[in-house]
Amino acid sequence: MTRERRSPIWHPFTQHALLDEMTRVLGGEGAYLYTHDGHRIIDAISSWWVVTHGHCHPHIVRAIREQASKLNQVIFAGYTHEPAEDVAALILKFAPSGLDYVFFSDSGSTSVEVALKMALGYWLNIGESRTRVAVMQHSYHGDTIGAMSVGARGVFNAAYESLLFDVSVVPFPERGREQTTLDALEAACRTKGLACFIVEPLILGAGGMLMYPAWLLKEMKLICEASGVLFIADEVMTGWGRTGTLFACEQANVTPDIACYSKGLTGGALPLAVTLCRADIFNAHYSTDRTRTLFHSSSYTANPIACAAAKANLELWRDEEPSARVRSVANMQERAIAPFRTDSRFENVRQTGTITALDLKSADNGYLASVGPRLQRLFRDRNLLLRPLGNTIYVMPPYCATAADLDEIYAGIREAADFLA
Ligand SMILES: *Cc1c(COP(=O)(O)O)cnc(C)c1O
Repeated sequence: MTRERRSPIWHPFTQHALLDEMTRVLGGEGAYLYTHDGHRIIDAISSWWVVTHGHCHPHIVRAIREQASKLNQVIFAGYTHEPAEDVAALILKFAPSGLDYVFFSDSGSTSVEVALKMALGYWLNIGESRTRVAVMQHSYHGDTIGAMSVGARGVFNAAYESLLFDVSVVPFPERGREQTTLDALEAACRTKGLACFIVEPLILGAGGMLMYPAWLLKEMKLICEASGVLFIADEVMTGWGRTGTLFACEQANVTPDIACYSKGLTGGALPLAVTLCRADIFNAHYSTDRTRTLFHSSSYTANPIACAAAKANLELWRDEEPSARVRSVANMQERAIAPFRTDSRFENVRQTGTITALDLKSADNGYLASVGPRLQRLFRDRNLLLRPLGNTIYVMPPYCATAADLDEIYAGIREAADFLA
């Protein structure tokens, strides 16, 4: 099959033979995107989970503008700059206490790669042979080879399977079967050589918006702690208010040994990521022996403009207003999703903080369920940006979304179900 070329761009997670006409966006403001043909689209998934306060937030835009004319890039080995120093200091103030160092990179995937390298470097440098990684079933940690290795195997990475390293998989804690998960983690921790356990706290995003309670997160942390296994919290999606608190780990009163933040770190304006760690992980690399260096960098590590955007985002969080918005969005979401709990066309209606999800009952499910692309088109025709994961529809709006926006989103979901019935 060959394609009559419209554009030379190869889009992400896109089967061009089934969808070749991209929606052309001219602008964004708050919860809305404006298309070239005059439509206003409600961004119900925060443009792949990155936009927190809304598109083009004036405070963040101003910071980017100012920084761009001062210093737009500088090598970050041997050099530093104020935006990075400010972001690091502010993040450590907000993050669970006990995290002491900040390593910059530029995407969620790279923040996960860095986390794994920190963990393995730690064990090598303190002279203990631990190289195995434990993960949770259905996890998603990114699309680079290492991040795929610790994520769920399936159609997404079948072609690269031979490159992925072997991991220990702990079953997802289905309701009522939580003990199975804990037992499996305990067993994994008992096996020789387990270096770390990486997990998405409270909600597994790309794996289907699968949710589990905070007490379980705490239990998992305690199990790891008991055998010295490093606990890595991948808060790339859950961070920045999504689960109702700034970071999901807060709800379980957990301080991870290593934490990954990205997506909403700049409010969704520019790519940036950080990997935070405890002092002893940094100290294991701290030596006059240069072989103990953390050998990782990306060209744009801690880009000053991205850092200025992140700093502006953190300033917004410091001013409390977003926390109130997060609570209000969570409440509005709770009200909006309630009627679906008794709608027999849906199942597993669920919510964690500002995120809701529900599964459309259909003959086929899973990510490649044929209902997924059909739903996506129906939503697009209704000027809603929703992108179901197979038959799982979820709503993850920016915090500036209004009750009227949510009404429109859920009316669209109801209508799509009517149409497909
Ligand atoms: C999106 C995501 C990633 C990958 O982030 P990118 O910026 O897309 O590389 C990693 N972990 C989780 C939990 C994510 O949701």
